[in-house]
Amino acid sequence: MKDGHEYGFDTLQIHAGSRPDPATGARQTPIYQTTAYVFRDADHAAALFNLQEVGFIYSRLTNPTVAVLQERIATLEGGVGAVCCSSGHAAQIMALFPLMAPGRNVVVSTRLYGGTVTQFSQTIKRFGWSAKFVDFDDFDAVRAAIDDDTRAVFCESIANPGGYITDIPAIAGIADGAGIPLIVDNTSATPYLCRPIELGATLVVHSTTKYLTGNGTVTGGAIVDSGSFDWSANGKFPSLSEPEPAYHGLRFHETFGPLAFTFHGIAVGLRDLGMTMNPQGAHYTLLGIETLSLRMQRHVENAVEIATWLENHPAVEAVTYAGLPSSPYHGRVETICPRGAGALFTVALKGGYDACVRFVNALQIFSHVANLGDARSLVIHSASTTHRQLTPEQQEAAGAAPNVVRLSIGIEDAGDLIADLDQALSAAAG
Ligand SMILES: *Cc1c(COP(=O)(O)O)cnc(C)c1O
Repeated sequence: MKDGHEYGFDTLQIHAGSRPDPATGARQTPIYQTTAYVFRDADHAAALFNLQEVGFIYSRLTNPTVAVLQERIATLEGGVGAVCCSSGHAAQIMALFPLMAPGRNVVVSTRLYGGTVTQFSQTIKRFGWSAKFVDFDDFDAVRAAIDDDTRAVFCESIANPGGYITDIPAIAGIADGAGIPLIVDNTSATPYLCRPIELGATLVVHSTTKYLTGNGTVTGGAIVDSGSFDWSANGKFPSLSEPEPAYHGLRFHETFGPLAFTFHGIAVGLRDLGMTMNPQGAHYTLLGIETLSLRMQRHVENAVEIATWLENHPAVEAVTYAGLPSSPYHGRVETICPRGAGALFTVALKGGYDACVRFVNALQIFSHVANLGDARSLVIHSASTTHRQLTPEQQEAAGAAPNVVRLSIGIEDAGDLIADLDQALSAAAG
């Protein structure tokens, strides 16, 4: 390649991080199904354990197959490094872990995946952490919610399930002003549609379970670091800036510079929390990512066609898809996700809760499952499932009211999907 030539997304999604296997020449990334790695000698082992040399020790921390996936996701997101882990929810805990401590809080958007609302409003309290939920369209409220104990701001790029798009540059500016990182969950958009780091995010988290794998086979997560945050600027992040007792007083930021967060995620996060991705899971996700751009193009094309058709259907009260000109968030598509607003949206039916239940039961191609981002089209009635644990106010705020179903549009023939929706809407009308 000529100097200065930069590879495009379609090339990177196939090649980034992988090279022919040095031992065998295998072209596809092998599944390194091993727990441990033989040390060359005692000095080599000591250097690895002291973090003086990078290498493989034990698969709770690092594994060559997982390492390829980490490098690929980091490259596609425009970050300096990534840590993969066992699920999207694990990634969220792993992202917060180096930043938080008892008494600290995170300021989060009200528009989040239902499971994340539960994790943040309930479970993290057991660690002494707390989350403050704020409407992220109200920038003054976001600014006001940040206090001396706030250690991060968290939102989703395209929020699940409501077709909401976050103004990432505006929120990143507020986080910057407070000297704390912005964490963006980019699961619903993927780096093909949205690049949060270019828009100002410090960290990006993923549920690789969804579009990145793209075929509904494995759960996984990833945390990508932009490498651009100064962890030593204000004394708020001692795990990264102060001596780490478990590594003979090593300071992660001083020692690893822009890779501090990534090294901490592996050397402390995976080592002690143990939320490790297994190599077989990484293999499925690597296969999926090879076709990410092609799938996302079709997901978006189908979503636009189907959302437009649904919006004009007499049984439909509303469709919240930012890809439609009627959406209040349509204006953000061009700056936040210029290649499209994703393939996830909600439909409110005039018949209310009962019509939703009949509709979901009648669908044939769409599967009724608690998942999204599969090649297959999926449907869920959020109020009776994923968002069931939330209060009615939280359901409403998250775009999951009782008369609302969420669709995850797959990559099948749009005509077949529309025919299926048409017969199910007739059945719902009863
Ligand atoms: C699914 C999902 C998660 C959680 O990921 P898991 O892999 O199921 O743990 C987090 N955020 C979003 C936006 C999701 O869709």
